Amino acid sequence: MVVIIRDGAGEEAIRAVIARLESFGLRAELVGGGRRRLIAAIGDAGRLDTELLRAMEGVEDVRRVSEPYPLCGRHAHPDDTVLKLGGVRIGGGQFAMIAGPCAVESREQILSLAPRLKAAGAQILRGGAFKPRSSPYAFQGRGAEALGWLAEAGKAAGLPTVSEILSPEQLPLFEQIDLLQIGARSMQNTELLKAVGGAGKPVLLKRSPAGTLRELLLAAEYLMAGSCGEIILCERGVRGFETETRFTLDLSAVPVLKEKTHLPVIVDPSHATGCVRFVRPMALAAAAAGADGLMLEVHPDPQNALSDGAQALRPEQFESLCAELRRVREALEAKA
Ligand code: PEP
Ligand code: MN
Repeated sequence: MVVIIRDGAGEEAIRAVIARLESFGLRAELVGGGRRRLIAAIGDAGRLDTELLRAMEGVEDVRRVSEPYPLCGRHAHPDDTVLKLGGVRIGGGQFAMIAGPCAVESREQILSLAPRLKAAGAQILRGGAFKPRSSPYAFQGRGAEALGWLAEAGKAAGLPTVSEILSPEQLPLFEQIDLLQIGARSMQNTELLKAVGGAGKPVLLKRSPAGTLRELLLAAEYLMAGSCGEIILCERGVRGFETETRFTLDLSAVPVLKEKTHLPVIVDPSHATGCVRFVRPMALAAAAAGADGLMLEVHPDPQNALSDGAQALRPEQFESLCAELRRVREALEAKA
């Protein structure tokens, strides 16, 4: 950490800043002279409140030189984390397709869809049981029963499963689910992050529409601090000023996150665009941008879906998209 001293600051103020840094176990060295003086603070400054330091007399600015997320940052862990879910690998150059309906609507729906998705190229089966809808009057999901149907369909088709958990109390219901999803609306639900971080299962963490990448990484740090080492980050669109799409897909999040963290990064173009016509181009673009995988909503009958039908691919559209994605990936690999 570097503390920039205000021009003309008194010696007593500077001594107080140094004493404060040392009280946190840091070694503080005053460098420079004349009008430009700095204090280089060496050591672990993770617990020091930079805003309080900035408010001290004689301080012009405070800059951290290391990131506040030591566990998920690249610094301490330069190699990519490769997540293993059954036989599926994700991260470190291994690409995974997560597909399924927005919500598990019935046992029949998910049992018949799962093998079609697997044959088309899906490696992980998704399906919501508890749906966090904007309106309390909208379909809220089939609940615990749907988790059982999803697990059954995943087992029958040989696909690991993922579903969104909304509260710590729901954890026991997710025993049969392989990957716990923390949805966009819950990214900063710290009690949920702590509970899920200690649950001993891999986690799919979605970015909040108003969350910065730093906040996403700090949410991942909550999970890792709670002993969860297997996390997939998911960019799913942020809230901008554009209204032609549901959200604005921030594809630059992919290379930025991959520079900052060792965790796998995937993209969800379904929730980002909200419109089936835009899912294909943005899925291809996400693969080209270096994503480690995609999450896509697929429904056997989108016109009659109980939630998010407008953004759902039909299984045959999903199949042809998987073939196109393979070509994008081959082109990337040929270039590498
Ligand atoms: C979902 O993936 O089911 C979902 C609700 O997405 P998000 O949390 O990104 O809105
Ligand atoms: Mn959905």
